[in-house]
Amino acid sequence: MNRHPPDNAPPARCRICGKPVDPDAKTFPFCSDRCRTMDLAKWADGSYTISRPIEEADLDEGE
Ligand SMILES: [Zn+2]
Repeated sequence: MNRHPPDNAPPARCRICGKPVDPDAKTFPFCSDRCRTMDLAKWADGSYTISRPIEEADLDEGE
């Protein structure tokens, strides 16, 4: 089955600068190598924190 997104689908946007991104772009989902690099830098920087590490106290809770 060939499924294409509808023509009126909102364009993907670069999560760094918010510019529309061509889904075929090799830098997708970023608009450019620069933004992709910036995103990687954020991860390396620890700016993106998903959750705090599990501590022993958490495991010890409850009787
Ligand atoms: Zn961008």
